[in-house]
Amino acid sequence: MAMQVHDAFNAPVDDSDTDLNLNSLNSKAGQRALQLFVRAVEASTNGVMITDAVDPKHPIIYVNPAFERITGFAASAVVNRNARFLAGSALDQSALDVIRSALRRRRAAQAVVQCFRKDETPFWNQVSVAPVPDEHGVVGHYVSIFEDVSERVYRENQLVHLSTHDVLTGLANRTLLDDRLDQALMRSVRDGSIVAVMLIDLDRFKQVNDSLGHTAGDRLLKAVAIRLEHCVREGDTVARLGGDEFVLVLADLSRNEDASMLARKIILSLTQPFDLDGREVFVTPSIGISFYPQDGENTSSLLRLADLAMYQVKASGRNGFSCFSQDMNVRAQAMADLESGLRQALEKDELTLYFQPKADLYSGQICGAEALIRWQHPIKGLIPPEQFIPLAEESGIILPLGEWVLREACRQASLWQREGMPGLTIAVNFSARQCRQHNIVEVVAQALQDAKLDPQWLQLELTESMVMQNPDQAEILLRRLKALGVSLAMDDFGTGYSSLGYLKRFPFDCLKIDQSFVQNITTEPDDALIASAVIAMAHSLRLYVVAEGVETESQMRYLRNQKCDQMQGFYFSWPLSATDFSDFVRSSACLPLRRKSADLSIRTLLLVDEEEEVLEALRSLLGRSGYRILTATSGALALELLGLNEVQVIIADQRLSQMSGIEFLSRVKEIYPDTVRLVLSGSSDLASVTGAINRGAIFRYLTKPWDDTVLQEHIRKAFAHYDRDRAARTSGALRQRND
Ligand code: C2E
Ligand code: MG
Ligand code: MG
Repeated sequence: MAMQVHDAFNAPVDDSDTDLNLNSLNSKAGQRALQLFVRAVEASTNGVMITDAVDPKHPIIYVNPAFERITGFAASAVVNRNARFLAGSALDQSALDVIRSALRRRRAAQAVVQCFRKDETPFWNQVSVAPVPDEHGVVGHYVSIFEDVSERVYRENQLVHLSTHDVLTGLANRTLLDDRLDQALMRSVRDGSIVAVMLIDLDRFKQVNDSLGHTAGDRLLKAVAIRLEHCVREGDTVARLGGDEFVLVLADLSRNEDASMLARKIILSLTQPFDLDGREVFVTPSIGISFYPQDGENTSSLLRLADLAMYQVKASGRNGFSCFSQDMNVRAQAMADLESGLRQALEKDELTLYFQPKADLYSGQICGAEALIRWQHPIKGLIPPEQFIPLAEESGIILPLGEWVLREACRQASLWQREGMPGLTIAVNFSARQCRQHNIVEVVAQALQDAKLDPQWLQLELTESMVMQNPDQAEILLRRLKALGVSLAMDDFGTGYSSLGYLKRFPFDCLKIDQSFVQNITTEPDDALIASAVIAMAHSLRLYVVAEGVETESQMRYLRNQKCDQMQGFYFSWPLSATDFSDFVRSSACLPLRRKSADLSIRTLLLVDEEEEVLEALRSLLGRSGYRILTATSGALALELLGLNEVQVIIADQRLSQMSGIEFLSRVKEIYPDTVRLVLSGSSDLASVTGAINRGAIFRYLTKPWDDTVLQEHIRKAFAHYDRDRAARTSGALRQRND
């Protein structure tokens, strides 16, 4: 029957008749109309296929030439077969279900089905199927129209791919990531599995980009993408959010540890060198992980929390991973609060500058001030900078804040000068972030210009670490700042790692010794030595030196003796409000410095013993010889006295609690090498003092009980020794000067 129909369709058609009334097939006109339709179907560019709806196998009974052209199958090869062979093995396509179910209901349907040509190449077939009822309304056939829409589908797919994938790496993009994450979360709700979101940021990727160029950077990103894909399981999603930020969605986990294990694997994989055109490049990742349902409840919160965890890794030295924890959130919240608080503070004038005077150690006169920011919080009171500067740095608000400090310091300095205050250099602290601000030189220039302040009165303080982060760039920046006419100080010197010699390349004028050294300058020989070496070396590099955090007279005296140029610290003055500062200057406050000549004529002897009676006996014996006598019952007290007084000879008992006599005298040797030091001890434990004697820490070892005359003679010799040494030192110094 099928063949008959097929033949009937191929019957010649007389198209001279244009009556299209198919209801009168028996008439001649009807026959012609039918033939016309047959010709039209045959000429159609769309494939046409008619199948038998009654036969349960639904065989094909007719296909037109376009069908043959599209599919590559000849009509004779397909007639009598079920059309399903066209879909090859792809029989579970949902598009086919649409058609099947429509046919079952005797309805028309349309779907794009993946089909295969005779040569097995695939193509996308837009199939429109319709039931064909006979004159009694019974469906005897189906007619299907085929159209090869491969090109369109390909283009559509390409568009879909583009809108869901990252062009550079081919990984999922943010859109697809959101979609996959949503699906994973839904699955997790159903089956109680865990979903991990892993944010991966490459450390110092910018450096690769900057030094090797963008093409190399792109290649590196592609290579990283490939390694990441190798690390994950099939169902996991690897996405790139842009830049050097990648995100992994790990679905269906049963334990959090699985994500940690994968993070370790990724670190191991990414830290293997990459080969970019024969050049080995090393990268390390910082990875933050958040979990559903434990941490966040939706895509955006999970990503945000993973980001927080990632920042934690960056902050603690990079190259590692960290899982989100609640205290990161607390910190982030505190930071957000602080940031908005600081923004308001800037607007509402809650920030003020305090000025800490600096004194010249030669003249004792005030010689400048450091501007130090304070936040006058309406509720929390005066907040010191250490509580907000580091966070302000992290959040970036340091830039407007730093600019405010700069402008305010210039304005105040200029105002004071117009009020007749003598010219004082005002130092302003610079933050690392400000140093990287592209227009920082212009910002400084503008602040000076707006305040009409001569640049010589502005000093900028930068720390060692800021400069050492990128020495080449720092050098350029410092030279440009210097060209404005301002002076530059290296702040907190000694807390970093760089050597003074290295700092030679930068145009600093001044070096500030960090307060951590100054603090122990009169008790810790190491700190004393470092301070005096730094002073001497700084001078040889033509830098003047400011000691920070000077709190006691003895520290001040020690520094002065070491030829330190200026000091800053509570001993001279606390940081003061602008009004208090101008009062301070007007009062001509000055460092109490004793005249040198007065010190020299007095012969001072320091006695150190825990027993008051011993001190008393020695005082009355030796006082008779005209010495000025100082006494102390401990090493610490004695060091304090040494800081405050010119002492030539010291006698210490060996048995002192906390710091033994030997240890005390050894320290004194380092800090005050010119002094002459004797031990007066009850025990005759010579072994413990031999070393000290050999190191030159001890001039004589005397035993208790003592013979008055012998002791007096030893003391006389000790002072004579001091004088001889002193004469030698002076002539040595003179010789050096004359050379
Ligand atoms: P810094 O630049 O080293 O400033 C010296 C700090 O030592 C000041 O603390 C000062 O009050 C304190 N100080 C001064 N004399 C003594 C002393 O005798 N003993 C002790 N223990 N401390 C003393 P402050 O004002 O709390 O400032 C701390 C740090 O905050 C500053 O250290 C500086 O790094 C930063 N800072 C302050 N103001 C600003 C600013 O306007 N911008 C920037 N970027 N940082 C600032
Ligand atoms: Mg400073
Ligand atoms: Mg400092």
